[in-house]
Amino acid sequence: MKLLVSACLLGTCCRYDGASKAHPLAERLAERHTLVPVCPEQLGGLPTPRPPAERRGDRVVTGDGADVTEQYRRGAEEALRLCRMLGCGAAVLKERSPSCGRGEIYDGTFSGTLAAGDGVTAALLASHGVPVYGESRIEELLK
Ligand code: SF4
Repeated sequence: MKLLVSACLLGTCCRYDGASKAHPLAERLAERHTLVPVCPEQLGGLPTPRPPAERRGDRVVTGDGADVTEQYRRGAEEALRLCRMLGCGAAVLKERSPSCGRGEIYDGTFSGTLAAGDGVTAALLASHGVPVYGESRIEELLK
């Protein structure tokens, strides 16, 4: 199967702080699947490094109050476009990210508090029927 994958899980230094979030099992996905790495925040035009941001209602804001909703939306649409064009059957996305998180994300108070919700890209992919896995479920794709 083709899988859309958060690039930071594959070791790309695309996170807001310029680091990666390489996951030991993510690389192993390439033994069974064709991987399509994406970083929606970069695809939306944001630089790396960049200020951390969180979802607050329908908006996405940085800690100092800048509204980056449009960049997050554009990145999500680019990820969806690539997912469809390349025929990806599922997405493996970084948990708790305001773009990639699925089911649980930071609550918009920049206090480290988690709340129920989806990142902008995860939500858009899921609303178009793409199954979204967090990195804690990668093993399900290695069986
Ligand atoms: S937007 Fe997604 S792929 Fe990019 S750094 Fe954040 S979690 Fe990783």
